[in-house]
Amino acid sequence: CGIVGYVGPKPVVPVIMEGLRRLEYRGYDSAGIALADGYGDLSVYRAPGKLRNLEALVAGMPLTGSYGLGHTRWATHGRPTEGNAHPHRDCSGSLVVVHNGIVENYLTLKRDLQDKEHIFVTETDTEIIAHLIEQEFLDADDVPGSSAPLPLEEAVRRAVRKLKGAFAIGVLSAHDPGKLVAARNGPPAVIGFGNGEYFLASDIPGILHHTRNIAFLQDGDVAVLTPAGVQFSDFEGNALSRPPQYVSWDA
Ligand code: GLU
Repeated sequence: CGIVGYVGPKPVVPVIMEGLRRLEYRGYDSAGIALADGYGDLSVYRAPGKLRNLEALVAGMPLTGSYGLGHTRWATHGRPTEGNAHPHRDCSGSLVVVHNGIVENYLTLKRDLQDKEHIFVTETDTEIIAHLIEQEFLDADDVPGSSAPLPLEEAVRRAVRKLKGAFAIGVLSAHDPGKLVAARNGPPAVIGFGNGEYFLASDIPGILHHTRNIAFLQDGDVAVLTPAGVQFSDFEGNALSRPPQYVSWDA
């Protein structure tokens, strides 16, 4: 329901928690946060109920990390438990996904992935997105003569092309540290351009206190956020221009 992602020099937990708080008006039943240090270490914290439950969980933990992704969930598939709260992981635990919306063909995709020995631990439609991206990495490894690892954004593009339904997603992966990848088909997603820092949010109020320079993801867009900037493409990988617009109103 609410998504906030951050790439930059600030302590990432407060940026994300404050952003999620500012998106609270959307309503939610659970919340979670994933942190990455840019070298491949990922940690995930989740809690059912109000944001203060997640805050209590992360309070006092030595949370560093220059990349982060937070989510408040409005359950559509699976009860509002800690286990079903986002971010969701793949089998290896090295990739996390947050998601707004509904994957309509998740049961078909889930069965296909189970045939490839993926084990699912939640009741959500979202979890299949993490496994689908993981499978793209595994399939790419199987291609003879392919020495260069698959970039995360390409694995995401290949995966989202298989999804039917509505989604705005954020993805972090230890396979390709130093990146935050977002994709949209339906629910809104915006990218904030700061000074050496970049934001992802499901809506402007989540990041407007940090920057007023905001680009709007269109349906069929993928964005790659790194400390060096943001690149946009379509689901096929063709580059797109999505210049930020100045938002003058107050949230
Ligand atoms: N369909 C997903 C779930 O139930 C995402 C819900 C949302 O948009 O928050 O977990």
